[in-house]
Amino acid sequence: MAAFLPASPDQAAFRDELLAQGMLLASDVPGLYGHGAVFDDVLCAVDQWLGRVGAVEHPEQLRFPPLIPRRDLEMNGYLSSFPHLAGTVFSFEGGQAEALEQAERAGRHEDWSRCQAMTELTLTPAACYAAYPAMGARGSLPPGGATLDLGPAWVFRHEPSGDPARMQTFHMREMVRFGEPETVSAWRDRWRDRSVALLRSIGLDARADIASDPFFGRAGRMLAASQRDQELKFELLVPIAGPQPTAVASFNYHHDHFAAPYRIRTAAGAIAHTACIGFGLERITLALIQTHGPHPARWPEAVGHVLWPR
Ligand code: ZN
Repeated sequence: MAAFLPASPDQAAFRDELLAQGMLLASDVPGLYGHGAVFDDVLCAVDQWLGRVGAVEHPEQLRFPPLIPRRDLEMNGYLSSFPHLAGTVFSFEGGQAEALEQAERAGRHEDWSRCQAMTELTLTPAACYAAYPAMGARGSLPPGGATLDLGPAWVFRHEPSGDPARMQTFHMREMVRFGEPETVSAWRDRWRDRSVALLRSIGLDARADIASDPFFGRAGRMLAASQRDQELKFELLVPIAGPQPTAVASFNYHHDHFAAPYRIRTAAGAIAHTACIGFGLERITLALIQTHGPHPARWPEAVGHVLWPR
Protein backbone atom coordinates (compact mmCIF):
# COMPACT_ATOMS: atom_id res chain seq x y z
CA MET A 1 0.00 0.00 0.00
CA ALA A 2 1.29 3.47 -0.86
CA ALA A 3 1.81 5.71 2.13
CA PHE A 4 -1.25 7.80 2.92
CA LEU A 5 -0.50 11.51 3.13
CA PRO A 6 -2.72 12.95 5.82
CA ALA A 7 -4.42 16.31 5.30
CA SER A 8 -3.41 19.43 7.21
CA PRO A 9 -6.23 20.92 9.36
CA ASP A 10 -6.94 23.54 6.63
CA GLN A 11 -7.02 20.89 3.91
CA ALA A 12 -9.34 18.67 5.95
CA ALA A 13 -11.69 21.61 6.61
CA PHE A 14 -11.73 22.55 2.89
CA ARG A 15 -12.44 18.94 1.93
CA ASP A 16 -15.36 18.77 4.39
CA GLU A 17 -16.75 22.00 2.91
CA LEU A 18 -16.45 20.73 -0.67
CA LEU A 19 -18.24 17.49 0.24
CA ALA A 20 -20.98 19.32 2.19
CA GLN A 21 -21.54 21.66 -0.79
CA GLY A 22 -21.73 18.72 -3.22
CA MET A 23 -18.76 20.10 -5.18
CA LEU A 24 -16.96 16.76 -4.78
CA LEU A 25 -18.50 13.35 -4.11
CA ALA A 26 -16.48 11.14 -1.78
CA SER A 27 -15.67 7.48 -2.41
CA ASP A 28 -14.25 4.81 -0.09
CA VAL A 29 -10.76 5.58 -1.43
CA PRO A 30 -8.82 8.74 -0.50
CA GLY A 31 -8.19 10.98 -3.50
CA LEU A 32 -10.94 9.45 -5.67
CA TYR A 33 -13.89 11.80 -6.13
CA GLY A 34 -16.92 12.36 -8.30
CA HIS A 35 -17.64 15.90 -9.47
CA GLY A 36 -20.86 17.78 -8.65
CA ALA A 37 -22.58 19.92 -11.31
CA VAL A 38 -21.11 23.26 -10.16
CA PHE A 39 -17.60 21.82 -9.90
CA ASP A 40 -17.91 20.27 -13.34
CA ASP A 41 -19.26 23.50 -14.84
CA VAL A 42 -16.25 25.45 -13.54
CA LEU A 43 -13.79 22.73 -14.60
CA CYS A 44 -15.22 22.68 -18.14
CA ALA A 45 -15.08 26.50 -18.30
CA VAL A 46 -11.41 26.47 -17.25
CA ASP A 47 -10.66 23.75 -19.81
CA GLN A 48 -12.36 25.62 -22.65
CA TRP A 49 -10.71 28.89 -21.66
CA LEU A 50 -7.25 27.26 -21.78
CA GLY A 51 -8.18 25.77 -25.15
CA ARG A 52 -9.06 29.25 -26.47
CA VAL A 53 -5.84 30.69 -25.07
CA GLY A 54 -3.74 27.91 -26.62
CA ALA A 55 -5.45 28.31 -30.00
CA VAL A 56 -3.14 31.27 -30.80
CA GLU A 57 -0.45 28.62 -31.45
CA HIS A 58 -2.70 26.76 -33.92
CA PRO A 59 -1.80 23.46 -32.24
CA GLU A 60 -2.82 20.19 -33.77
CA GLN A 61 -5.64 18.69 -31.70
CA LEU A 62 -4.97 15.10 -30.64
CA ARG A 63 -6.86 13.06 -28.04
CA PHE A 64 -5.77 9.89 -26.27
CA PRO A 65 -7.46 7.46 -23.84
CA PRO A 66 -6.51 7.31 -20.13
CA LEU A 67 -4.48 4.13 -20.77
CA ILE A 68 -1.16 3.73 -22.53
CA PRO A 69 0.59 0.57 -23.70
CA ARG A 70 2.73 -0.93 -20.94
CA ARG A 71 5.60 -0.95 -23.42
CA ASP A 72 5.61 2.86 -23.50
CA LEU A 73 5.92 3.13 -19.73
CA GLU A 74 8.81 0.68 -20.01
CA MET A 75 10.49 2.79 -22.70
CA ASN A 76 10.24 6.30 -21.27
CA GLY A 77 11.96 5.79 -17.91
CA TYR A 78 8.85 6.26 -15.77
CA LEU A 79 9.27 2.99 -13.88
CA SER A 80 12.74 3.86 -12.63
CA SER A 81 11.89 7.51 -11.83
CA PHE A 82 8.37 7.08 -10.41
CA PRO A 83 7.74 3.39 -9.62
CA HIS A 84 5.65 4.48 -6.61
CA LEU A 85 3.15 6.47 -8.70
CA ALA A 86 2.52 4.08 -11.59
CA GLY A 87 -0.72 2.20 -12.08
CA THR A 88 -0.74 -1.07 -14.00
CA VAL A 89 -3.86 -2.81 -15.32
CA PHE A 90 -4.26 -6.43 -14.28
CA SER A 91 -7.02 -8.72 -15.47
CA PHE A 92 -8.40 -12.14 -14.68
CA GLU A 93 -6.61 -15.16 -16.05
CA GLY A 94 -7.66 -18.69 -15.26
CA GLY A 95 -10.44 -21.23 -15.48
CA GLN A 96 -13.59 -22.08 -13.56
CA ALA A 97 -11.75 -22.90 -10.33
CA GLU A 98 -9.83 -19.61 -10.30
CA ALA A 99 -12.99 -17.65 -11.12
CA LEU A 100 -14.71 -19.27 -8.16
CA GLU A 101 -11.79 -18.58 -5.85
CA GLN A 102 -11.62 -14.96 -7.00
CA ALA A 103 -15.32 -14.41 -6.44
CA GLU A 104 -15.11 -15.95 -2.95
CA ARG A 105 -12.10 -13.88 -1.94
CA ALA A 106 -13.62 -10.71 -3.41
CA GLY A 107 -16.86 -11.43 -1.57
CA ARG A 108 -14.90 -11.27 1.68
CA HIS A 109 -12.92 -8.21 0.45
CA GLU A 110 -9.72 -10.24 0.70
CA ASP A 111 -6.73 -10.04 -1.66
CA TRP A 112 -7.72 -11.67 -4.99
CA SER A 113 -4.61 -10.56 -6.92
CA ARG A 114 -3.35 -14.16 -7.30
CA CYS A 115 -6.14 -14.74 -9.86
CA GLN A 116 -4.96 -11.71 -11.89
CA ALA A 117 -2.26 -11.34 -14.52
CA MET A 118 -0.55 -8.25 -15.86
CA THR A 119 -2.04 -6.92 -19.10
CA GLU A 120 -0.36 -4.86 -21.80
CA LEU A 121 -1.99 -1.69 -20.37
CA THR A 122 -0.97 0.92 -17.80
CA LEU A 123 -2.79 4.03 -16.61
CA THR A 124 -1.62 7.28 -18.20
CA PRO A 125 0.54 9.20 -15.69
CA ALA A 126 0.80 12.37 -17.84
CA ALA A 127 -1.19 13.37 -20.89
CA CYS A 128 1.88 13.89 -23.08
CA TYR A 129 3.13 10.29 -22.69
CA ALA A 130 0.81 9.06 -25.44
CA ALA A 131 1.97 11.78 -27.83
CA TYR A 132 5.62 10.71 -28.21
CA PRO A 133 5.04 7.28 -29.79
CA ALA A 134 2.35 8.83 -32.00
CA MET A 135 4.76 11.51 -33.26
CA GLY A 136 7.59 9.01 -33.61
CA ALA A 137 5.41 6.88 -35.90
CA ARG A 138 5.02 9.81 -38.32
CA GLY A 139 8.69 10.17 -39.23
CA SER A 140 10.39 13.59 -39.26
CA LEU A 141 8.75 16.74 -37.93
CA PRO A 142 7.84 19.48 -40.40
CA PRO A 143 10.19 22.52 -40.59
CA GLY A 144 9.63 24.58 -37.44
CA GLY A 145 8.54 21.52 -35.48
CA ALA A 146 5.07 20.76 -34.17
CA THR A 147 2.73 21.86 -31.38
CA LEU A 148 0.01 19.61 -29.96
CA ASP A 149 -3.01 20.38 -27.80
CA LEU A 150 -4.01 17.18 -26.04
CA GLY A 151 -7.27 18.48 -24.55
CA PRO A 152 -8.52 17.52 -21.09
CA ALA A 153 -6.98 14.10 -20.36
CA TRP A 154 -7.50 11.80 -17.36
CA VAL A 155 -4.22 10.92 -15.68
CA PHE A 156 -3.36 8.71 -12.68
CA ARG A 157 -0.86 9.01 -9.81
CA HIS A 158 -0.99 6.51 -6.95
CA GLU A 159 -0.65 8.92 -4.04
CA PRO A 160 -3.62 8.56 -1.68
CA SER A 161 -4.04 11.73 0.38
CA GLY A 162 -6.55 13.54 2.54
CA ASP A 163 -5.71 16.80 0.76
CA PRO A 164 -8.58 17.41 -1.71
CA ALA A 165 -6.05 19.00 -4.11
CA ARG A 166 -4.06 15.75 -4.29
CA MET A 167 -6.30 13.40 -6.24
CA GLN A 168 -5.27 9.98 -7.51
CA THR A 169 -6.90 10.61 -10.87
CA PHE A 170 -7.58 14.02 -12.38
CA HIS A 171 -7.64 16.02 -15.61
CA MET A 172 -4.50 17.50 -17.02
CA ARG A 173 -4.71 19.86 -19.96
CA GLU A 174 -1.39 19.66 -21.80
CA MET A 175 0.25 21.25 -24.80
CA VAL A 176 3.46 19.74 -26.17
CA ARG A 177 6.11 21.37 -28.36
CA PHE A 178 8.49 19.42 -30.59
CA GLY A 179 11.41 21.02 -32.44
CA GLU A 180 14.90 22.48 -32.21
CA PRO A 181 16.31 22.95 -28.67
CA GLU A 182 16.18 26.78 -28.67
CA THR A 183 12.66 26.89 -30.13
CA VAL A 184 11.37 24.43 -27.57
CA SER A 185 12.97 25.95 -24.49
CA ALA A 186 11.90 29.49 -25.51
CA TRP A 187 8.34 28.22 -26.03
CA ARG A 188 8.33 26.68 -22.54
CA ASP A 189 9.61 29.93 -20.97
CA ARG A 190 7.09 32.05 -22.88
CA TRP A 191 4.16 29.94 -21.69
CA ARG A 192 5.43 29.93 -18.10
CA ASP A 193 5.52 33.74 -18.02
CA ARG A 194 2.27 34.10 -19.89
CA SER A 195 0.49 31.64 -17.62
CA VAL A 196 1.23 33.67 -14.49
CA ALA A 197 -0.75 36.54 -16.07
CA LEU A 198 -3.46 34.13 -17.23
CA LEU A 199 -4.09 32.77 -13.74
CA ARG A 200 -4.00 36.25 -12.26
CA SER A 201 -6.71 37.25 -14.77
CA ILE A 202 -9.07 34.81 -13.03
CA GLY A 203 -8.17 36.24 -9.62
CA LEU A 204 -5.62 33.63 -8.51
CA ASP A 205 -2.52 34.74 -6.64
CA ALA A 206 -0.12 32.79 -8.89
CA ARG A 207 3.66 32.83 -8.96
CA ALA A 208 6.18 30.73 -10.89
CA ASP A 209 8.98 28.81 -9.18
CA ILE A 210 11.65 26.30 -10.10
CA ALA A 211 10.47 22.80 -9.22
CA SER A 212 11.44 19.15 -9.37
CA ASP A 213 9.48 15.96 -9.90
CA PRO A 214 8.83 13.54 -6.99
CA PHE A 215 11.54 11.09 -8.12
CA PHE A 216 11.76 7.83 -6.16
CA GLY A 217 14.39 6.92 -3.61
CA ARG A 218 17.97 8.00 -2.98
CA ALA A 219 18.94 8.25 -6.67
CA GLY A 220 15.79 10.31 -7.07
CA ARG A 221 17.12 13.02 -4.78
CA MET A 222 20.07 13.47 -7.13
CA LEU A 223 17.81 13.51 -10.17
CA ALA A 224 15.64 16.17 -8.51
CA ALA A 225 18.68 18.32 -7.67
CA SER A 226 19.99 18.06 -11.23
CA GLN A 227 16.53 18.91 -12.60
CA ARG A 228 16.52 22.06 -10.47
CA ASP A 229 20.08 23.01 -11.42
CA GLN A 230 19.22 22.79 -15.11
CA GLU A 231 15.89 24.63 -14.58
CA LEU A 232 14.06 21.88 -16.45
CA LYS A 233 10.82 22.27 -14.49
CA PHE A 234 8.81 25.26 -13.32
CA GLU A 235 5.50 25.22 -11.52
CA LEU A 236 2.82 27.84 -10.98
CA LEU A 237 1.93 27.95 -7.31
CA VAL A 238 -1.41 29.14 -5.98
CA PRO A 239 -2.68 29.10 -2.39
CA ILE A 240 -5.52 26.55 -2.08
CA ALA A 241 -5.59 25.13 1.44
CA GLY A 242 -2.42 25.52 3.52
CA PRO A 243 0.21 25.29 4.68
CA GLN A 244 2.12 25.60 1.36
CA PRO A 245 0.79 26.92 -1.96
CA THR A 246 -0.20 24.19 -4.42
CA ALA A 247 1.23 23.61 -7.91
CA VAL A 248 -1.58 24.07 -10.43
CA ALA A 249 0.48 24.03 -13.63
CA SER A 250 3.91 22.81 -14.72
CA PHE A 251 6.28 23.77 -17.53
CA ASN A 252 8.73 21.06 -18.44
CA TYR A 253 11.70 21.01 -20.78
CA HIS A 254 12.69 17.40 -21.50
CA HIS A 255 15.72 17.83 -23.79
CA ASP A 256 15.64 14.63 -25.90
CA HIS A 257 14.43 12.38 -23.04
CA PHE A 258 11.12 11.52 -24.76
CA ALA A 259 12.13 12.11 -28.39
CA ALA A 260 15.19 9.81 -28.35
CA PRO A 261 13.44 6.49 -27.55
CA TYR A 262 10.92 7.12 -30.36
CA ARG A 263 13.44 8.58 -32.83
CA ILE A 264 11.45 11.81 -33.22
CA ARG A 265 13.58 13.88 -35.62
CA THR A 266 13.58 17.51 -36.71
CA ALA A 267 13.24 18.37 -40.40
CA ALA A 268 17.06 18.66 -40.44
CA GLY A 269 17.39 15.08 -39.19
CA ALA A 270 18.55 15.64 -35.58
CA ILE A 271 16.78 14.07 -32.61
CA ALA A 272 14.19 16.67 -31.58
CA HIS A 273 13.80 18.28 -28.17
CA THR A 274 10.41 18.46 -26.46
CA ALA A 275 8.65 20.49 -23.79
CA CYS A 276 5.19 20.25 -22.29
CA ILE A 277 2.99 22.58 -20.30
CA GLY A 278 0.28 21.03 -18.17
CA PHE A 279 -2.59 22.63 -16.27
CA GLY A 280 -4.25 20.65 -13.47
CA LEU A 281 -7.93 21.34 -14.10
CA GLU A 282 -9.24 20.09 -10.75
CA ARG A 283 -6.62 22.11 -8.86
CA ILE A 284 -7.42 25.33 -10.76
CA THR A 285 -11.13 24.69 -10.10
CA LEU A 286 -10.42 24.17 -6.38
CA ALA A 287 -8.33 27.35 -6.27
CA LEU A 288 -11.19 29.32 -7.88
CA ILE A 289 -13.71 27.96 -5.36
CA GLN A 290 -11.36 28.62 -2.44
CA THR A 291 -10.62 32.17 -3.66
CA HIS A 292 -14.05 33.32 -4.86
CA GLY A 293 -16.48 31.08 -2.96
CA PRO A 294 -18.86 28.27 -3.91
CA HIS A 295 -21.26 30.36 -6.07
CA PRO A 296 -19.78 31.16 -9.52
CA ALA A 297 -22.68 33.55 -10.24
CA ARG A 298 -21.33 35.77 -7.43
CA TRP A 299 -17.71 35.72 -8.55
CA PRO A 300 -16.09 39.00 -9.68
CA GLU A 301 -17.46 40.09 -13.06
CA ALA A 302 -13.98 40.19 -14.63
CA VAL A 303 -13.44 36.51 -13.72
CA GLY A 304 -16.84 35.55 -15.15
CA HIS A 305 -16.04 37.34 -18.43
CA VAL A 306 -12.83 35.36 -18.82
CA LEU A 307 -14.35 31.96 -18.01
CA TRP A 308 -17.83 32.36 -19.52
CA PRO A 309 -17.43 34.87 -22.38
CA ARG A 310 -20.56 35.85 -24.33
ZN1 ZN B 1 3.86 16.36 -20.16
